[in-house]
Amino acid sequence: MTAGVVTTETPRRGTGRTGRDDRGDVDAVVIGAGPNGLVAANLLADAGWRVLVLEAEATPGGAVRTAEVTAPGFRNDLFSAFYPLAAASPALADLRLEDHGLTWTQAPTVLAHPLPGRTAAVLHRDIDRTVAALEAAHPGDGDAYRMEDARFRRVSDPMLDSLLRPFPPVRSGVRLALRAGTSGVRELARLSLVPMRRYVEERFGSEQAAVLYAGMALHADLTPESAGSALFGWLLTGLGQQRGFPVPVGGAGRLTDALVDRLTARGGVVRCSARVVQVLVREGRAVGVRTADGDEIGVGRAVLADTDASKLLLNLVGPQHLPASTLARVPRIQRGGATFKVDWALSSPVPWDDAAAHGAGTVHLADSLDQLTVTASELSRHLVPTEPFLLVGQMTTADPTRSPAGTESMWAYTHVPQEVRGDPTSDRDAGLHRQQVRGVWDDDDCEEFAARIEARIERVAPGFRSRILARHVLSPRTLERMDANLVGGDINGGTAQLHQQLVFRPVAGWARPETPVRGLYLASASAHPGGGVHGACGANAARAAIAHHRWSLRPVLALATHRRQRGSSSISPTIAATVRPAGQPEIDRAIDTPNG
Ligand SMILES: Cc1cc2nc3c(=O)[nH]c(=O)nc-3n(C[C@H](O)[C@H](O)[C@H](O)COP(=O)(O)OP(=O)(O)OC[C@H]3O[C@@H](n4cnc5c(N)ncnc54)[C@H](O)[C@@H]3O)c2cc1C
Repeated sequence: MTAGVVTTETPRRGTGRTGRDDRGDVDAVVIGAGPNGLVAANLLADAGWRVLVLEAEATPGGAVRTAEVTAPGFRNDLFSAFYPLAAASPALADLRLEDHGLTWTQAPTVLAHPLPGRTAAVLHRDIDRTVAALEAAHPGDGDAYRMEDARFRRVSDPMLDSLLRPFPPVRSGVRLALRAGTSGVRELARLSLVPMRRYVEERFGSEQAAVLYAGMALHADLTPESAGSALFGWLLTGLGQQRGFPVPVGGAGRLTDALVDRLTARGGVVRCSARVVQVLVREGRAVGVRTADGDEIGVGRAVLADTDASKLLLNLVGPQHLPASTLARVPRIQRGGATFKVDWALSSPVPWDDAAAHGAGTVHLADSLDQLTVTASELSRHLVPTEPFLLVGQMTTADPTRSPAGTESMWAYTHVPQEVRGDPTSDRDAGLHRQQVRGVWDDDDCEEFAARIEARIERVAPGFRSRILARHVLSPRTLERMDANLVGGDINGGTAQLHQQLVFRPVAGWARPETPVRGLYLASASAHPGGGVHGACGANAARAAIAHHRWSLRPVLALATHRRQRGSSSISPTIAATVRPAGQPEIDRAIDTPNG
C-alpha cells in the first residue's frame, strides 16, 4: 500500500476543511516519513493540524521498510526487523495501529546465542525455561536471572515511560521512584552507569548468561566495558522476556503502512520523492521548506524534522541562523558505528548445530564475552573486526508469511568502523581465504566481507552456504543512500553511548525537541531518547509543537475574552491565528535558552 503514497493532494484538517489560507500552505511540514516522522504527523493530525509529510525516498518508512530484494516470494526487511521497543512504546500504543491493519506475531523462541563447545544461551518466551537453561549452565544463574527479571518487571512501565517521554520526565519519574523505592532507585542509578562486564560478573557464573545480556547491549553501539551498557542490555533482555521480540505479520513495512493509513484517514498527506533541501527561516522562525524540485511550502505553525541533527542544522537550516554556541557543539556529535547487512533467500531453514537456535527469531553470534570485548576494541581502533559480532534474523521462523513454505528469509548485520584504518584479519590469516577489506565498500569489499559473515555462520551451522538461493548486500554507503539519516551506516541517529544521551542528545544542553530556530523541532532518532523504533522522538516533537502553538495563542485568546467581556465583537479565528502575540518570543526564548 505505501508504495502508492506519492501524492500532490493538499492536506486537510480532521474536520474535512481543505485548501490554503493566509497562514501558510499547511500548518506543519514534517520532513521525513520514518517512524518518528509518521508518529509526529499522526499526533499533529489528531490535534486538527493540516500536515504534509515530505519524504526524500520513493516510499515512506525510513528504516522500517520491506521489499523483495533477494528472490521472488521472499519479503526482506531492509533495515529494522524486531520491535520490542515498539511493542512497549506508549506513543505507538496510543495510535492503536491494530485498527489500521497491523498484526504482531512472534517466533517460538525469542533469542538464541549458540556457543562453541557449550549449550546455547536461550531466551525462551516462558521464563521457567530460560531459568532452567541458565541454571543448567551454572548453578545459581537461573535464580539470579529470575531476580533480575522480577526487578525489571517491578519498574518496567514507569521506567519505559520515563525513558521515552521528554526530558525531564517529571510525572513518570515520580511514579518510577515510588515503584522502585529508595534502594531501588539507588540500584537503578548504579545500573545506568555500570558496564555490562561488571554487571554480569557480579551476578552470574556462566558464559551463557554473560553473552545473553552483553549481546543485547551490542544491539546499540555499546561495548561490554562502556558505561550504560548494563542498563541497555538489562532493558532489552527484560523486554524480550516480558514481551518477546515481535514482528509485524507481512513485514516491517506493515508498521509503516499502518502509520500512513492512520495519518491519511485524518487528512494528512505523505508526498514521496520530495527531498527537502532547505528550511526557510525568517526572523529566527521556521516559516517553510524548499524541496530539491524548487517547491516552496509555507507553514503556519511548525516544521518538524525527522532528519539527522547535523544535516538539519548545517545543511537545511544553515550556520547563519544558528547561535555560535550551537555551532560549536555540532562537530562533537558522535556517529554510531557503521553497519554492514546481508539478506538471504534460503532454500530451507538454517542447519544450526545447536537445535536451540532453530525456533529463535533472533540469533546472536559471538564465541564469548571476551570476544565481544575484542570486537569492541577493534571497532574503537577503526579496525575491521576479526570476528564480527553477528545479529541474525530468521524472519520466516518469526512470521511464516515472509517466504515460501519450507524456506527461510534471513538477514545478518554487524558493526564496522565508520572510517576503516586497517583489517587485522587479512594480515594474520593471510593463508586463509581473506582479502583486505579497505572500507571503501566497493564490490570487492562487499564480496569479501559478506563471505566472512557467511563463513562465520557456516561454523555453527554446517551446510548453511549450500542453502543460499540469493543474497543482497547493504554496505554502510548503500544504507545512507537509501535513507539519508543512516549517516555512514549509523543506525541510531548518533551514538547510543551515555555521553550522548538525555541532556547530551544530540548536543550538550538539549534533550528536548526544540531547536534554536523557533517553530523548528527535531523529531528523529538524533533527539532524545534516540534510536530504535518507538516513535518517542516524533511524539515528543509533536507534543512540543502543539504546546508552543497553544502558548502562543494565549495572549490573543485572552484579548478576545477581554473584549467579549467588555461587549466588543470577538476576534476572528483567522486573526487569532495570524497575529503573533507580543509574548511569544519570550516564551520561545525561555524554552530555547538551554539550546542556544
Ligand atoms: C540495519 C538496521 C537494523 C535496525 N534494527 C532495528 C530493530 O530491529 N529494531 C529497532 O527498534 N530498531 C532498529 N533499527 C533502528 C531504527 O530503525 C531507527 O532507529 C529508526 O528507524 C529511526 O527512526 P527515524 O524516523 O528517526 O529515522 P528513519 O527511520 O531513518 O527515517 C528518516 C526518514 O527521513 C527521510 N529524510 C531524511 N532527510 C530527508 C530530507 N532532507 N527530505 C526528506 N526526507 C528526508 C529519510 O529518507 C527517511 O525516510 C535498525 C536500523 C537499521 C538501519
